[in-house]
Amino acid sequence: MGLMYKCENCGAVFNDSVYKVVYGDEIAVCPKCEQEDFDEASQCEICGEWCTERELELCEDSIAKCHDCMTEGEKEECRTLKAASLNMLKLQQRLQ
Ligand SMILES: [Zn+2]
Ligand SMILES: [Zn+2]
Repeated sequence: MGLMYKCENCGAVFNDSVYKVVYGDEIAVCPKCEQEDFDEASQCEICGEWCTERELELCEDSIAKCHDCMTEGEKEECRTLKAASLNMLKLQQRLQ
């Protein structure tokens, strides 16, 4: 599966950005709202929601969860493990 992206502006999930020419430069934008604010997305392993790295946490049980699927305890843990879990997520995506 190729990379998926999620727009932080309108929430659209897509696998191909479109290009828009701005002052002679081609920039990659969201196909829906044509903004540049999109990021690589991964799926929450619990509810299947597409999330950007910022919205998804790799929890203690090695399951990537969106903020809605995390317990309060997990949210607390993730705040302290934030840096480590982001690195693990990146590693996971590289292996896919
Ligand atoms: Zn958008
Ligand atoms: Zn979820």
